[in-house]
Amino acid sequence: MDLGLMGKRAIVTGGSSGIGLATVRTLLAEGARVALCARDMVRLDSVVAELRGQFGNDAVHGAPCDVTQGPSVQAFVDGVLRAFGGLDILINNAGQGRVSTFAETTDQAWRDELELKFFSQIHTVRACTGPLRQSGTGAIVAVNSLLAYQPEPHMVCTSAARAGVQNLIKSLSVELAPEIRVNSILIGLVDSNQWNKRFLASGEPEAKRGEWYAALAKSKHIPMARLGKPEEAARAAVFLASQAASYVTGAQIEVSGGISRYI
Ligand code: NDP
Repeated sequence: MDLGLMGKRAIVTGGSSGIGLATVRTLLAEGARVALCARDMVRLDSVVAELRGQFGNDAVHGAPCDVTQGPSVQAFVDGVLRAFGGLDILINNAGQGRVSTFAETTDQAWRDELELKFFSQIHTVRACTGPLRQSGTGAIVAVNSLLAYQPEPHMVCTSAARAGVQNLIKSLSVELAPEIRVNSILIGLVDSNQWNKRFLASGEPEAKRGEWYAALAKSKHIPMARLGKPEEAARAAVFLASQAASYVTGAQIEVSGGISRYI
């Protein structure tokens, strides 16, 4: 199947780690030019240098950007347009989950979480809509969470925010059609830096890493009996962004190893 990504120009937010980095690599391997952003410049610079070594300087553009800050996003997108001369794909991936029950979640934590989840979509979509409309094959993919449909009480505000984002994505898919398709992927548990941080915080020795992840998969009752790999999520996102999904909009692909309990 031809994904039709050769020469396409893409933005991946949060492209320096985990699912975002795997998405950047997948797009580059398909012949796209990719711009990535994140806040930590040291990690971003090192990732960009490595990717340029593998795929060439012209194929990769990297710049620091905090997606919760409108001017920062606009400056990043302006830089991408100068570098690439246009834009065909936006992958909204940047973010992280917040572990807290309702009783533990302060007003400020609610505000921070809602701001991160909503404005990481709002700022980027606003800045990219014009160039994506001109693309002829414009596509937006949100990396969202299964928590949108299946909330977890220990991640109460992330679950609520993810549900709101899913609703927003549906509205955008109507408002931006037919020029821009808007879809999402719903992640269950994917082995990324987020889970690495939680493993390190557990205090378990490195030798127990495999056991810790296996116990996690078991405790979450994942039918596939393991966490997902970042590239497994990336492939779903890239498919939705590609011309292979040219009639798919307002839809979602679940990448969860079968953990959902709804039909
Ligand atoms: P990682 O922590 O590995 O990567 C997150 C990326 O986002 C990093 O590049 C990080 O860079 C960047 N980022 C975070 N906040 C911002 C910000 N405000 N502005 C710009 N960049 C930012 O996590 P994952 O790969 O797991 O996460 C990718 C997405 O998938 C996230 O939205 C996450 O919530 C979602 N998800 C992941 C799940 C999982 O099991 N892994 C489950 C459900 C959803 P930096 O810190 O330098 O800014």
